[in-house]
Amino acid sequence: MALKIWLDDKLVGDQDATVSVFDHGLLYGDGIFEGIRVYAGKIFEEKAHVDRLYESAKAIRLQIPMTKDEMVDAMRKTVEANGIKEGYIRQIVTRGVGSLGLNPFNCEKPCVILIASTIQPYPEEVYENGMKVISATTIRNHPLALPPQIKSLNYLNNIFAKMEAIDANVPEAIMYNHMGYVVEATVDNIFIVKDGIIYTPPVNAGSLCGITRAVVTKLAKQNSLEVVETDLTRFDLYICDEFFLTGTAAEVISIVEIDGRFVGDGKPGPVTERLRKLFFEYARS
Ligand code: PMP
Repeated sequence: MALKIWLDDKLVGDQDATVSVFDHGLLYGDGIFEGIRVYAGKIFEEKAHVDRLYESAKAIRLQIPMTKDEMVDAMRKTVEANGIKEGYIRQIVTRGVGSLGLNPFNCEKPCVILIASTIQPYPEEVYENGMKVISATTIRNHPLALPPQIKSLNYLNNIFAKMEAIDANVPEAIMYNHMGYVVEATVDNIFIVKDGIIYTPPVNAGSLCGITRAVVTKLAKQNSLEVVETDLTRFDLYICDEFFLTGTAAEVISIVEIDGRFVGDGKPGPVTERLRKLFFEYARS
């Protein structure tokens, strides 16, 4: 089915949605993006995602050529034009067309792309039975080299870890930082449960500041569950009672095995199941 793509300032047919080979998004990964869910035709956590996009832009000294209100309007129009009720929007802003040199300030103007499409989450049985993961040997980007809070177009660091997961025949890999502390999975944040308390690594360990992570933390607290942000080690993952990931695509998904060790009894635990249900209902309310 032909899609309508938002390109710069208007909707165009997907055949006409092309970018230059001199775009620095392509040449250097110089740009930013967001992935956002649409539930029942409504853009989920719209403001949080738009704010994060503009923060990423500010951090890389890129001026998005539209206001936040104009961006929201463009997102809604793109969702509507494609008749998306349950789906996903990808927002991309590249540095734009420049020369072959690195200099971002010679680029003409940032290119704005919005793609609204359907989404293929994990199969239902993965949610029912939980997922296996491995620890990646690739460490997460050092926060002082490239702050991982910037959702940049260069995902090679995460792609290295994803390749390790695929080689090990599992869907996800857990990434650690330069000090060995747990950071996040390749496209998801991490939580564990130990003795009834929920723990998650601080964003300063080097992860993206996940919007699903924030919603799940809020829902947990509203339901009298304690959430503590603290540095976690690989050992903590090995001996926890429950382990789950959060992210736009995955929502809340239980991890039942890591590096060949069962998490708890190897089945999704009650706290995770409760949060998964709360999130599901909240997102679709
Ligand atoms: N970490 C990384 C590296 C990601 O790409 C994502 C997906 N955006 C997440 C975590 C989860 O963030 P969110 O809940 O905002 O999708």
